[in-house]
Amino acid sequence: MPALLDPDMTEHLYYQNSFLYEFDAEVVDVPPTADSRSAVILDRTAFYPTSGGQVFDTGWICPQEAVEAKLRVIEVTETEDGQILHVLENSPSLAKGARVHGLIDVERRRDHMQQHSGQHILSAAFLRLFNMPTVSFHMGAESCSIDLDTKNLKAAQVESAETLANDVVMENRPVSIRFVTREEARGLGLRKIPPVERDQLRLIEVDDFDLTACGGTHVASTGQIGSILLRKTEKTRQGWRVEFVCGKRAVATARHDYTVLAESAGLLSSHVWDTAQQIRKVQDESRASRKEREHLMEELAESYATRLLAETAEHKGRKFIVHTFPDRDLTFIKLLGQRLTRQSAEVIAFLGVTSGQPALVFAQSPGQPFDMGALMKEILARFGGRGGGSKDMAQGGPAQIEGLETALHELAARLSG
Ligand SMILES: [Zn+2]
Repeated sequence: MPALLDPDMTEHLYYQNSFLYEFDAEVVDVPPTADSRSAVILDRTAFYPTSGGQVFDTGWICPQEAVEAKLRVIEVTETEDGQILHVLENSPSLAKGARVHGLIDVERRRDHMQQHSGQHILSAAFLRLFNMPTVSFHMGAESCSIDLDTKNLKAAQVESAETLANDVVMENRPVSIRFVTREEARGLGLRKIPPVERDQLRLIEVDDFDLTACGGTHVASTGQIGSILLRKTEKTRQGWRVEFVCGKRAVATARHDYTVLAESAGLLSSHVWDTAQQIRKVQDESRASRKEREHLMEELAESYATRLLAETAEHKGRKFIVHTFPDRDLTFIKLLGQRLTRQSAEVIAFLGVTSGQPALVFAQSPGQPFDMGALMKEILARFGGRGGGSKDMAQGGPAQIEGLETALHELAARLSG
């Protein structure tokens, strides 16, 4: 639609043909960009600038007199007055009026066409099947997403929309571009009319399935999309977000998913489809063995307590027990402290763990006169670390253990003396 455009505006070659990967143009300007990167403006371009959810093309611009001096186009943006800025990796030796040849990165363009056309079909499928309009479209480097205006979205609905969208892909329906006036568009039943006031609308039509206004680059027939794979869905503030991938991305994603799944299945020695079931089994087993371990620890603490009480001589009606373990943990010495004070009414125990994460537990039988919390604070003041507790039971984590056992024996000697 060049005739309808401002003559100062860059001619958008991609509006007419998404498969135009090479073109000739003239440099109109070499303006400084806001972030002082190098850019050129051409009189016409096939480079798509970021807009309408679709991200920009990349490629090369070559001066016609020196084709080998390819300039890498790393980003393409559109200014408010319709100029298209080709941002270059390096500053160009191009002047106004120079003739250039543009080359689009075909792989990237094809990928974008697959994602964007796939999105139109998917959005139409959700609308047709469940009356869920698409409110926005996002094209990411790895996956794409649409936001649906709906309160609920069930897994079965996602699957139905995916099936219908892929049926439309398999039917290889023609996808066409046409231009109409805003007036003409009103009677056509468009899925979406852009809010911007423009005289002319560019329409993308998936034959007998979807008609919508869009400025993006699209496939010529739906079969070129290859496939549409829906993945994560998540509730958003406004509705539901559906993640999807199309074309070669769908294949790459499925390949990645399979690799991860196969590795997980390998670790479980199961078939890939039984992975979840196997993980559930492992979780159950782990839960059971944790319980079993806790039970055994309680039994061990019980018998340890019996043995320590039998080995310790009574002193003025009390038993002072000092014991440190190189190979236990806080949970165990807490259990031991509880068992000791439960088995005997006259015990005062100073227990410690000296390896890994050092720990201390001080415990006395109810009715004994000392203050375990205060004694713990006293010891930790010497050895560093944090801890505390009540009159009968205290725990702590000493920062250092050098001389700790001796200090515990001295403490017991002091209290018994
Ligand atoms: Zn679109």
